[in-house]
Amino acid sequence: MNNSKAENERLFKKRIKELSKIKGWGTELISLYIPPEKNLAEVTNYLKREYSQASNIKDKITNKNVRACIKTIMQRLKTINKPPKNGLAIFCGAIPTSNSRGTEKIEIFLIEPIMPIKAFIYRCGGSFFLEPLEKMVLPKEIYGFIVIDREKAVIGLIKDVYVQLLGKYTSGAPGKHSKGGQSQQRFNRLREKIILEYFRRVGEHATSFFRGTPNLKGIIIGGPGFAKQDFLRADALPSDLENKVVGLIDIGYGGEEGVRELVSKVGEVLSGLVIVKEKKLVQDFFKKVVEEPNLVTYGFNNVFEALRREAVATLLLSENLSLHRVKLTCRTCGYIDEKILNGKEINEIVTKGVPCPKCNSPLYIEEEKDLFEELIEEAGKHNAEVFIVSAETEEGKQFASAFNGVGALLKYPLT
Ligand SMILES: [Zn+2]
Repeated sequence: MNNSKAENERLFKKRIKELSKIKGWGTELISLYIPPEKNLAEVTNYLKREYSQASNIKDKITNKNVRACIKTIMQRLKTINKPPKNGLAIFCGAIPTSNSRGTEKIEIFLIEPIMPIKAFIYRCGGSFFLEPLEKMVLPKEIYGFIVIDREKAVIGLIKDVYVQLLGKYTSGAPGKHSKGGQSQQRFNRLREKIILEYFRRVGEHATSFFRGTPNLKGIIIGGPGFAKQDFLRADALPSDLENKVVGLIDIGYGGEEGVRELVSKVGEVLSGLVIVKEKKLVQDFFKKVVEEPNLVTYGFNNVFEALRREAVATLLLSENLSLHRVKLTCRTCGYIDEKILNGKEINEIVTKGVPCPKCNSPLYIEEEKDLFEELIEEAGKHNAEVFIVSAETEEGKQFASAFNGVGALLKYPLT
């Protein structure tokens, strides 16, 4: 997959995630899906009808808010000639700004989806209706895995950067012990029989899970010793699935304890997998911070400057990046200050307050702008590769907390 396409998709996912967090009071969030071939005049007519119907809404505030939303959408549509090539999804809602009713703010979000919108949809609800967009970003890289030894097994999926466990099993086989002689042989035969049955049982579960997973790219089997080979030799998997096995990986444990190790070693088999690339990039960044500090930079201002100077090879951004450009103003003396702050620092200002340096009155946050998109845009202008670091991995969490979620690998040292 082309890199900018992949990044586009991750950005798209991020926006869906953000919209999914928004909750409204009643049914004051509107979702509108406009297919590419749809005539916008028709959409406006449809909205006009909805607008007049909304006057029947009994709750006064809901009535007012829904109509304000519809109006906002209609105004925005006036500025558009025709839908973009994949159509347009519009989300507009009365978004609560505090715990008290009546303080909602009307906000509108436009999304050009990564795939064509198939049907015209208008919905009002307590949250935005995102299913049609979510369907566009089903994971692309799905591998099945089985981590197995003679006692325990787990079956799961690696979906892009996520790991999902589907089931876990135990053999119930008695441990090896030696008595010697006839009874030992009988004991061994019995033990092997139990293990063979367990392999087949795990195989049957894996078969039903993996056959039920569309787009399964391959299967990885991990475990200590020869359990992996014995599992395959037991014909535990039918031939269509056996043909999908792309690697056997040696790890210390079977069962859940082995999953982490499997994922970290998966790179030996699948070097193109996103999770591996992510680990490598972030680890490379951490290493350079210590060993070659002139080849990395971090902190919003430094990164922005490096981008402008065309020095950035790869921009790393945490999907949970929480940096904002904030305008602080004093309502008494008119003092204005602009700062780059993270979510925690903003919270502190909101809860504890910060005094004006000139007159000591409290400063207010007038404007707050998320810097994620600003950074991506700047990277695009200066040919830097962007990698969005998921917040689900250990490395990703560390990157987000230690570096505020923004850093860059440089092409050359900046002096
Ligand atoms: Zn002041």
